[in-house]
Amino acid sequence: MILEGKVALVTGSTSGIGLAIAKALAGEGAKLMVNGFGDPVEIARECKELGAVHDSADMSKPAEIERMMKRCADELGGPDILVNNAGIQHVSPVEDFPPDKWDAIIAINLSSAFHTTRLAVPSMKRKQWGRIINTASAHSLVASPNKGAYVAAKHGIAGLTKTIALESARDGITVNCISPGYVWTPLVEKQIPDTMRTRGLTREEVMNDVLLAAQPTKRFVTPEEVAALALFLCRDEAASITGANLSMDGGWTAA
Ligand code: NAD
Repeated sequence: MILEGKVALVTGSTSGIGLAIAKALAGEGAKLMVNGFGDPVEIARECKELGAVHDSADMSKPAEIERMMKRCADELGGPDILVNNAGIQHVSPVEDFPPDKWDAIIAINLSSAFHTTRLAVPSMKRKQWGRIINTASAHSLVASPNKGAYVAAKHGIAGLTKTIALESARDGITVNCISPGYVWTPLVEKQIPDTMRTRGLTREEVMNDVLLAAQPTKRFVTPEEVAALALFLCRDEAASITGANLSMDGGWTAA
């Protein structure tokens, strides 16, 4: 087991991509702290299965992030592997975009990664080993209409990734982001009704003509595919991959 003795914290890991990453890291022996919202019974069941601790810190609140990071250090030591994955979406033209949704998306999808990273890096530097993996998106490289906050946050996290990679390059720490195209998760499922409404389309039209329109493979990426790449980034063989924005988008951004 390649991650025996390592502590991993995965934000937004009660669902979708984060849960798949948590499972992959636990499968290789990492001690895990999971985070996110959801049904407490279901979360407790997953934690038992993964041997994980759950922290319910709200990633839009810096004070809660600080508390969670301290708890992770005190109870587990670490994190040695930090996966900034929590994210939300809101779809709306800019003139109707609710300012509170803008603030929430920037806080959860971007600023939370700044807070976890600033608090995780000192211990990684002391150990001269660390892995920071940010879940960005194809929207860190290209835009789509009606997703101003999301696209801004994802372009931001790609920039933060590169910056921290440079700052920590001599400390055994790698910092990368993974940029999936459309992955079939609740986050995507939830934006179908809004897109149907704003563009006047049926569910099938949204799936085929909007979501998969730009994805040349015409299939959704799976959470397990993203998790496999995250796991690879934790290996010693990935020590020279840093500051990279790794696309996993079925060819979307090649076009
Ligand atoms: P999801 O909705 O299945 O999971 C999101 C997770 O974030 C959940 O665990 C949720 O509880 C948690 N979360 C949401 N708000 C939170 C908050 N305030 N504090 C703490 N946790 C919070 O979504 P997903 O598709 O698995 O998305 C995970 C990440 O992948 C996001 O950053 C998303 O932008 C990114 N992404 C998703 C896709 C896709 O097509 N699904 C594509 C590219 C990038």
